[in-house]
Amino acid sequence: MIPTLLPTYARAPMTFVKGEGAWLTEADGRRFLDLGAGIAVNALGHAHPALVQALTDQAGQLWHTSNLYRIPQQQALADRLVDLTFADTVFFTNSGTESCELAVKMARKYWFDKAAPDRVEIITFSGSFHGRSSAGIAAAGSEKMTKGFGPLLPGFVHLELGDMAALKAAITDKTAAILIEPVQGEGGIRPIPDRDLKEMRALCDEHGLLLIFDEVQCGVARTGRLFAHEWAGVSPDIMMIAKGIGGGFPLGAVLATQEAASGMTLGTHGSTYGGNPLGCAVGAAVLDIVSDPAFLGEVSRKSGLLRQKLEGLIAAHPDVFDEVRGIGLMLGLKCKLPNTALVSAGYQAGLLTVPAADNVIRLLPPLNITDEDLHEAITRLDAAAVQARQEQEQ
Ligand SMILES: *Cc1c(COP(=O)(O)O)cnc(C)c1O
Repeated sequence: MIPTLLPTYARAPMTFVKGEGAWLTEADGRRFLDLGAGIAVNALGHAHPALVQALTDQAGQLWHTSNLYRIPQQQALADRLVDLTFADTVFFTNSGTESCELAVKMARKYWFDKAAPDRVEIITFSGSFHGRSSAGIAAAGSEKMTKGFGPLLPGFVHLELGDMAALKAAITDKTAAILIEPVQGEGGIRPIPDRDLKEMRALCDEHGLLLIFDEVQCGVARTGRLFAHEWAGVSPDIMMIAKGIGGGFPLGAVLATQEAASGMTLGTHGSTYGGNPLGCAVGAAVLDIVSDPAFLGEVSRKSGLLRQKLEGLIAAHPDVFDEVRGIGLMLGLKCKLPNTALVSAGYQAGLLTVPAADNVIRLLPPLNITDEDLHEAITRLDAAAVQARQEQEQ
């Protein structure tokens, strides 16, 4: 019999009842150090007082009205995001997938309104992840995500990540946009080199294409800059965000330049919940904290500390770990044993990590994790490495 919950997830046998900072607790009191942060969602850990306050204050006032009316919390958050970024305008969604949908629609509508309705193709890359909607899986294009789901949304051109010559050759008069994660998350924490992002920007400028960055995972201070593309010194025309911006409340957004958004006129898009007062109140509280340069500096400092410790861990377990990669607190440990064995051994050591492609385990701790908790994470990773190797030998 099919379970009452549609069985699309292989769930680990833990049930958390409470969270505080970087820690999750089960009903029997067992504590886990959370280096997954709900897959880069709990940017400020669990039950951050400022977020609890923002949520509960707003919950006592007003939850939902409709985008039929003015929503001051939404307006304020949009203004703030525009102030802080390349963008001129913002549309709020409830998830990364929905942000992807709008980004795709926006790019196509842009060219339609420029009297080039055949320019519908969006170039994407191997290892990418853009959500599980029909457009999202078609954009990523991997068999794992698309097989069995019938005719895919057409108009995506899939290229090998890092093959800049192929990218140049793939641009035609049907190309509308290039879509890429500045740091691939699900694909195994693969940062795109700055020079490649710069070259993409140059190619888009040369051909008049739109550059779309999917910063759903790498954005919102995760890499130590407010948005990951800032490291490369290039801006997109359209950017998708979600995950960290809500700190655990479902919130996403598409940010765009005036030019890129020019096709999205009255009635061309909508959302019932997107940008509701609750989500935007929490999003504003998150953004206030993570956009502070001192906070961003701390993310980079902790990244340095964690990386240094991880290098030591790799040296201590050269048969278990291969390398560490990533930026800020978006780090990946490439494994020599199966990554899932290390994630499971982590559970036994009271540590949560997240597997990714390319045999990587992802370390995506809350951005405000303490140094003490980072040290503890290394102790537990060390225990997990010993355990995983023992099990492998049996
Ligand atoms: C998680 C993720 C998405 C999808 O976001 P959802 O909120 O799960 O819909 C899209 N793109 C990237 C890069 C992601 O990491």
